[in-house]
Amino acid sequence: METRVRTGIHPDIMEAYCVLEGKPLSRTLAQRLVLVDSGQLLDLVSLANKVRNKFSPAAYTCTIFNAKSGVCSEDCRFCAQSSHHAAPIEVYPLVSESAILAAAEKASSNQVRSFGIVTSGFGYDRITREFRSITRAIHLIHDRYPELAVCASLGVLSPETAGALAKAGISHYNINLQVNPARYAKLISTTHTVEARIETIALLQECGIKTCVGGIIGVGENMSDRVELAYVLKDLDVDVIPINVLIPIANTALASQPPIPAAEVAKTFALFRLIHPGKVIKFAAGRETLMKDFQGLLMLAGANGFLTGGYLTTRGREAAEDQAFLTALSGF
Ligand code: SF4
Repeated sequence: METRVRTGIHPDIMEAYCVLEGKPLSRTLAQRLVLVDSGQLLDLVSLANKVRNKFSPAAYTCTIFNAKSGVCSEDCRFCAQSSHHAAPIEVYPLVSESAILAAAEKASSNQVRSFGIVTSGFGYDRITREFRSITRAIHLIHDRYPELAVCASLGVLSPETAGALAKAGISHYNINLQVNPARYAKLISTTHTVEARIETIALLQECGIKTCVGGIIGVGENMSDRVELAYVLKDLDVDVIPINVLIPIANTALASQPPIPAAEVAKTFALFRLIHPGKVIKFAAGRETLMKDFQGLLMLAGANGFLTGGYLTTRGREAAEDQAFLTALSGF
């Protein structure tokens, strides 16, 4: 057991060292850690990094491919693909199976572990021609690049479509809750409910598909909301937790949202790591574009994975540069 003789460390952070001994972090203590000030932040980050090293040391990278862009019926406030916004993005219907395969080939040659097919829209409640084309593309990728895990993010599913994706052999399915579910209607969307997304998570788990469920920070929520989201994800026992930082996009409802300070992002990652010691926590959008010089620190605040090669409607760093970044981080 690690020695507890540490002078100058905030008593709540000292108490949180129980996580290193395999004990869960209580909600009450997590909410107290929200109040840790900037003078103690690096102590919290250091603990989160110790927890990551002990319980989830492997690093994971994945890449996503936007197979259908824009014209979405939903009104998610941050999203450039919503038809409720007039954001300057490329709009296209579902691309061909060969285009999906070509993107998978690029991911494979970049030595990324998993490749996610993403489509805009509410979701698929039945097996349409479009949905069938996606499952065919998944089979083609498995045949051609067997080393590549194929994931999908297609919105809300029904038992029928979740079952079809399980049959197609997807590894993980991404469906984010985005924020504290109690504030979903206010902060994210009024055209659908967060319950529909939670029901999809249950369907996926019944089908044996691993779940990738996270959120977005910087959309008007507070740190207590983030802690609440982390505990909801714990109750749902999701497998992977992607955390996005809002990139405000022109003409969306959050175009003028002020950027979130790097210190707040670091605290968020550290708290997620302490609440989820053994899970994969991925830094998704915002890592390179918003956090710039701080992305190394943020990766040491508890994250053990990231999205590489760009996002749905914004660019990221090239995969080779990210691989070098990951190698440099592995010594910490
Ligand atoms: S996040 Fe998804 S469901 Fe919401 S507007 Fe964007 S594409 Fe549509």
